[in-house]
Amino acid sequence: MASSTKVDLDGNPIKPITICMIGAGGFIGSHLCEKILSETQHKVLALDVYNDKIKHLFEPDSLWAGRIQFHRLNIKNDSRLEGLIKMADLTINLAAICTPADYNTRPLDTIYSNFIDALPVVKYCSENNKRLIHFSTCEVYGKTIGSFLPKDSPLRQDPEYYVLKEDASPCIFGPIEKQRWSYACAKQLIERLIYAEGAENGMEFTIVRPFNWIGPRMDFIPGVDGPSEGVPRVLACFSNNLLRREPLKLVDGGQSQRTFIYIKDAIEAVLLMIENPSRANGHIFNVGNPNNEVTVRQLAEMMTKIYSKVSGEPSLEVPTIDVSSKEFYGEGYDDSDKRIPDMTIINRQLGWNPKTSLWDLLESTLTYQHRTYAEAIKKVTAKAVAS
Ligand code: NAD
Ligand code: UDP
Repeated sequence: MASSTKVDLDGNPIKPITICMIGAGGFIGSHLCEKILSETQHKVLALDVYNDKIKHLFEPDSLWAGRIQFHRLNIKNDSRLEGLIKMADLTINLAAICTPADYNTRPLDTIYSNFIDALPVVKYCSENNKRLIHFSTCEVYGKTIGSFLPKDSPLRQDPEYYVLKEDASPCIFGPIEKQRWSYACAKQLIERLIYAEGAENGMEFTIVRPFNWIGPRMDFIPGVDGPSEGVPRVLACFSNNLLRREPLKLVDGGQSQRTFIYIKDAIEAVLLMIENPSRANGHIFNVGNPNNEVTVRQLAEMMTKIYSKVSGEPSLEVPTIDVSSKEFYGEGYDDSDKRIPDMTIINRQLGWNPKTSLWDLLESTLTYQHRTYAEAIKKVTAKAVAS
């Protein structure tokens, strides 16, 4: 239950505030809205083009309907934006095109969404002296330094060559024709602009770099609650394959490495940022779980085992197949080789650490996927066979 006597990390009482959350209807936004409403007294102005993932929170019978207001708007072209930012104490910007399948196929939309459309948000916050928490990405690090060393170099095992540090690691992207990097580059430039607003104009800001946050409500299942030809991020791609009893597709051998963090652990970190401005302002934070590293191939194997456990269905005899990135994503795809977040800054400023193991977070997420989608997939498949 929400408590009115909550204190921050320095023992000061936390005053209820109004938060303007842009992109509140997405995966992260839906979890953040739930957390804020269930555990705090803050109010939320929720802005998005869609609301399917949050409408349960503001329907009249919701416990929290009085503390959340939904505004359906596109920040590209809506004059209400500045007024809503002015009404709030804090703005959190989550709005973005952020699925890799779009970066090389819709590079213009990707750059506009992640840089141009975010500009007015930064400007209105700066001009109206409002605090901003902006969602960037771990992808701003690009590739690791280690990936340029010879394959057999022992230095590849040295954390100095791969651990990603907010205040020390370079941003290493591929050539312009590898349009995959359009997203990372746009996110990097908006980070630099926000940082400069802080340095030159005193804007209060925090930048979040999520490292593969995953959990229920992430993206969509193609042909069920999203386009049949759509390509979501890896959790939803593999969930879709498992639900349909198809082999999981490993892009370029599934050799890339990722660290995955449970959405609920990550949201705890964001709430600490919201409620401890003096510790969070002026900082860029990696938010990830360095203990949950796997190759994409290992992720596929783990998800296959866990899905069999939660669904009671045996795994396929051939559970994975290899596909080339050109076939799967098209021309201009490239990849980050390895993503291990350094945790020094977030530990020092907010005392935060992730808790959930990869096995546990996949088990609860795949239980959700099975419960939410298994019947719907059966219906869609039966319809396709009948027609
Ligand atoms: P998401 O796609 O689920 O949510 C983004 C939301 O923003 C969507 O609901 C979308 O409708 C909304 N939106 C986009 N453009 C808009 C516009 N012009 N006007 C109004 N609303 C708009 O993505 P997510 O996973 O929740 O990611 C949120 C943020 O975190 C993004 O900025 C993303 O780049 C960043 N991020 C997330 C991850 C992750 O692991 N999930 C990793 C790296 C970065
Ligand atoms: N990937 C894969 N099969 C899929 C979807 C993704 O092998 O069906 C790979 C992708 O090439 C990348 C990793 O999984 O190496 C993670 O992809 P995701 O879309 O989650 O985003 P990223 O971590 O690259 O931002």
